Parts: sequence; structure tokens; C-alpha cells
Amino acid sequence: MGRRKFLGGAAAGVVAGAATTVGGGESQAQTKSDATKPDADSLYHSHEGGSLSHSLLPSDPALRVKAMETLLLEKGLIDAAAVDALIDQYENKLGPKIGAAVVAKAWVDSAFKKSLMEDAAKALTSIGITGNGAEQMIAVENTDEVHNVVVCTLCSCYPWAVLGLPPAWYKSEAYRSRVVREPRKVLAEFGVKLPEQAKVRVWDSNSEMRYLVVPQRPKGTETMSEAQLAALVTRDSMIGTGIPAV
Ligand code: FE
Repeated sequence: MGRRKFLGGAAAGVVAGAATTVGGGESQAQTKSDATKPDADSLYHSHEGGSLSHSLLPSDPALRVKAMETLLLEKGLIDAAAVDALIDQYENKLGPKIGAAVVAKAWVDSAFKKSLMEDAAKALTSIGITGNGAEQMIAVENTDEVHNVVVCTLCSCYPWAVLGLPPAWYKSEAYRSRVVREPRKVLAEFGVKLPEQAKVRVWDSNSEMRYLVVPQRPKGTETMSEAQLAALVTRDSMIGTGIPAV
């Protein structure tokens, strides 16, 4: 599709979306699925997966990305197949299941855990996890005394190699600014309640260093297999905004 046609279509979409919103009487407010836990993806207002009226109108960033992609393709500066392969990699191949397997392995294999804590890049390479920033990783372990949580205050640096793409809330200004000022309050909003004596350590990621939180293994999981344990490890628990539970 040419740029003019694309942009024309986008403009029509805006009109259609506005008309539906008015006609349907839909509020723009997104409903929180749980008042106590901020489903931060909705809290920080992603339009994806919203109401019918929202689904007719791509978000502003989505429109800008499409416009830019159209231009770059038209000028022959990027290859469509290469873009598709990259999107497939980030959407389908990378993801938190990789990090969950790493954490479960650390829980059952003390030698691997020692290696992971000492030199995460080397430990990840030893089990075939390379690229996407795997060589710039530091693992930090939660204990009864210390709870770790990860942010990128500057932008959205994230451990892609083990967690895939970051959730929308991780990139939001609210999370980035608040978690360093009032981490306990933010964690409580995520449903993470810490003992009074536990210290909270906030790690600020950057383009050269990404962090993986190794959460505590839940009690009562002594007989579980590595695969069963991996299923308990959530994305949020590896950012520090969640706790694995049985
Ligand atoms: Fe960043």
C-alpha cells in the first residue's frame, strides 16, 4: 500500500472510530480486571484488545509505526521478509518461558544457580541462550531479606533474551518514576506484600546491563519436577513485581 493510501486509510479509521465511539456510547475508560492488582497493561492504557470501538482504531504509536514501515519499505530501505522474521522472533520465539526455565533450573541445580549468580551471561550461554542481550545480563536473587525489582528509568531496557518483549506498563512513565520513589507502594499495587524487615532493591537497567530476578522457590514444591516449577515462574516474578505461587 502506498503512503498516501495508507495515511488516507488511517484518517478514515479515525473518523470511523470516532463515530462508533459516539454512536455506541462507549466510554474511553478501560476497566481494571482487579481493583487491588493493577493489571498494569490496562492501567497504563493500551488500546489493544479493548472494546469494539477501540479495536477499529489502532493506537497512535501503532499508526506511526505502520506509517514508518510503509515509508521504509517503499524506499527499499528494509526488507519485508526480514521485518516479518524479526516480529516472529519477538512475538513467538522469545518470551518469559525462557526465563522461567532458567529460574526453575537454578532452583533444582545448585551448580547452575551458583554459575548464574556469578556470571549470568556465561551460565546462559552454557544452556544455549545467546543473543538479544544475553551477554549483558546480571541475575539478582530474592531472599527473605532482600526483594529485587527491575526498572529502566530512562526508557525501556529489558532482558529480551529471557523475557521477550516488555509489557506496556514497564515502559510507562508512571512505573519508571514511581518504582524508584515508592517501591513498596508500587509492589503492593501489584499484589506483592513484603515482610517489614525485607529490603527492596531497585535495579535500573540500561542499554549495557539487564537484570533477571531469580524469585524464591515457593514452599511446598519439593516434589515438583523442573518443568512443573517452570510453570510457576511468571514474567512479573522475574521483574520483581510478582511472586511465584503454587
Ligand atoms: Fe532503557
